[in-house]
Amino acid sequence: MTDQVTVPQIPPVEELIKFELFSDLPQSLVKRIHKKPTTREVEPDEVILLEGQYDQVMYVMLSGHVQVTQSSPNGSVLIGTLKRGDFFGDMNPRTTQPSAVSITATTDCNLLELSKPQLQSILDASPHAQSLIDRTYNNRALRSELHGVSLFEGFNSEDLDRLTKTATVVRYPSDAPIFDEGDEGDAFYLIRTGFVKILKKRPSAKALVLAYLREGQYFGEMALLNEDPRSASVMALTETEVIRITKDDFNALLESHRGMRRQLVDVISRREARNEELAQNQSLAQTLEFVVNQGLMEQNTALVIDMDKCIHCDNCSDACAAVHDGHSLLTRHGPQLDTTTANIQFPTSCHHCDDPLCLTGCNFNAMERTPTGEIRIIEETCTGCNLCAKLCPYDTIAMVPRQSETKAGWIDRLLGREPEPVFVPTSPTGKKYKRLAMQCDLCVERPHMNCVYNCPTGAIFRVKPSDYFVGVESIS
Ligand code: SF4
Ligand code: SF4
Ligand code: SF4
Repeated sequence: MTDQVTVPQIPPVEELIKFELFSDLPQSLVKRIHKKPTTREVEPDEVILLEGQYDQVMYVMLSGHVQVTQSSPNGSVLIGTLKRGDFFGDMNPRTTQPSAVSITATTDCNLLELSKPQLQSILDASPHAQSLIDRTYNNRALRSELHGVSLFEGFNSEDLDRLTKTATVVRYPSDAPIFDEGDEGDAFYLIRTGFVKILKKRPSAKALVLAYLREGQYFGEMALLNEDPRSASVMALTETEVIRITKDDFNALLESHRGMRRQLVDVISRREARNEELAQNQSLAQTLEFVVNQGLMEQNTALVIDMDKCIHCDNCSDACAAVHDGHSLLTRHGPQLDTTTANIQFPTSCHHCDDPLCLTGCNFNAMERTPTGEIRIIEETCTGCNLCAKLCPYDTIAMVPRQSETKAGWIDRLLGREPEPVFVPTSPTGKKYKRLAMQCDLCVERPHMNCVYNCPTGAIFRVKPSDYFVGVESIS
């Protein structure tokens, strides 16, 4: 008897349009999704999405139940359950964030996978779907985020539910002001994604950057606690999402949770000490400014060279070429930070950006983000069109000739000359693409990063710039 392979079933179009997500879509679009569906069957206890993992798919539940959990210092917390018609996963067609929660099947489930282009066409076609996705996203963001904030540690689930109903998620584009120094304090803010900078005006001098804050940190509490106008301005540094709690709701929380006030007073005094340190320490202030101006805050990872240790032997670059078909994916030139305490160069090499313009711009789906967050070029589908290289703001993509074969024809043999290279098509379509895009792959398939491993002086290493240079995590 041969093994039967079961293909997950998708309900007929008439059933599918009963799902709220599809209810307002043009039939032609639903039919298109229905015609070539990507479905997935999962068994009870199977983890569909892992917290912290990158996944570029939005899942629509065709049947079954899943539970949504999030890790906390006290173990895993149940955030909610989902059923047929609900959806989860990556709800933003433009960028990919690591999942804030884990999703585990509690029964047999059948899921429909929507790719980013499919999601984009749904959003374009239906304002109803757009607002449903938006509301769902905001609601889940609030639930999962508020559970993880140390400030709300003593809150029970009813407190958190109440907070979820009153707080709002607000998005700011990069460089947008969130509030200005001197404004009335009307809300408390918690950063969900992105970075903000806090600035203090100075008479006849450039505004002083007091701090950079990132996801999980908060601001705006000082004016509310002291009933004073805003003592500094706050600006979004990258595309930023914040959870906004109004002054009245915030004051009600303070009334009912005495420990919260103590915690906030403690944070304020640490921030004041840090501001003092910044005002005194020019080198730290310079480093902060450099990291921001170079766009390093948005970079997931950066290669850095300690120029006090570098002996300019080029081993790093040669070692990279040695394991990448002769192409070095790092150029030992780039912005340099030179202060009294650091002399550091940022060589040109892929940063595996949070918002990868190369990936979102590729017309051939030849770039992807792996579950662990790296940006990867898919050799089979890359056409060598050069668009990603043009879009990359850091000039880190190299266009290289595809692997070639040399084949001597009879004229070559007769004339005794070198044969012309023959390009080997590696695309599944069989087309002969001559070039291939390449960027630093972090040596993920090797036991170590070859550049770092081969540096004789230990001058080169990789860091997450926002952690390494700014120490933003220590601010709050
Ligand atoms: S990590 Fe690997 S691919 Fe990236 S620059 Fe270093 S050697 Fe090259
Ligand atoms: S190739 Fe450029 S845009 Fe793409 S992830 Fe790397 S640094 Fe960012
Ligand atoms: S291998 Fe090390 S010492 Fe040599 S050029 Fe690279 S960073 Fe400098």
